[in-house]
Amino acid sequence: MGKKIRGRFAPSPSGRLHLGNMASSLLAWLDARSLGGEMLFRLEDLDPERSYMDYALLMAEDLRWLGLDWDLGWPEDPGYAQGGRTVLYEEAFAELSGRGLIYKCWCSRAERLAASAPHPGEEHPGSCRCRYLSGDELTARLNGKRPPAYKVAVPDEYVTIIDGHLGEYTQNLAHDGGDFIVRRSDGVFAYQLAVSVDDALMGVTRVVRAEDLLSSAPRQRWLIETLGHTAPDYAHAPLLTAPDGRKLSKRDGDLNMEELRKRYSPAELTGRLAYLCGLIDRIEPVMPCELVAHFDWAKVPCGAIDITGVF
Ligand code: GLU
Repeated sequence: MGKKIRGRFAPSPSGRLHLGNMASSLLAWLDARSLGGEMLFRLEDLDPERSYMDYALLMAEDLRWLGLDWDLGWPEDPGYAQGGRTVLYEEAFAELSGRGLIYKCWCSRAERLAASAPHPGEEHPGSCRCRYLSGDELTARLNGKRPPAYKVAVPDEYVTIIDGHLGEYTQNLAHDGGDFIVRRSDGVFAYQLAVSVDDALMGVTRVVRAEDLLSSAPRQRWLIETLGHTAPDYAHAPLLTAPDGRKLSKRDGDLNMEELRKRYSPAELTGRLAYLCGLIDRIEPVMPCELVAHFDWAKVPCGAIDITGVF
């Protein structure tokens, strides 16, 4: 018998869900349900400064409003919120440390954002000199006031994922992504570590999310396998773009669910999203459950989807 299929919603409660989040969530749900799988809801509230409980509750509410459900997870089970899972991240960190893969880093540029999933333009690839500090230089840093962040040293290796939507995607870990932060200097664990540990320990087998995280998939796969687990399959969903070509974002307050729920019923909103994603031929009201039987990634466009004329 094959492995139980398990997909996930993994929103960060830093703002209200927007149209792009809803498209990815719909595709994640359809992917798992069309394979007869389960869904779980994990709250990615790693960063205390960017996580709000009001938004977290609204996110769960907005998904349910659309007709997307899950079988396990937050809020029914608080154990699925990253904020309470530090012990598990500590264990993974200790394991990597014990294998000599962790080093201290004093470069602060990438640090503040490390607890959030990287959005375009926010990645700071490349290993830094901190990995090679020795003698006086290292002593000076260690004696200085600034506490270090922690990075994981990646090997000069190629990692390939077969994306369920986009096909083969390969990166050289050292050259394309470089060493990355796994823990900030204030002790907060980074998105890359937490998401990898959680996808592995929560038995997630299908990761469906927006395409801006495609470039994180090889390092997550490597981290999961380095920690001795099996990596999930990945499928990255198209980004939705505003008429001016800009990617929709929570931070820009684009078409969020507060606005969308005033304008559309769940079936109307699903119909428009399904049309944009190539799942139906014309805009008409439809509920997510009606799309399960005919869901096929081959229908979904590759590349960004312009929402002009539909929203
Ligand atoms: N929590 C991330 C976000 O809301 C998504 C992480 C993931 O799907 O891997 O952007």
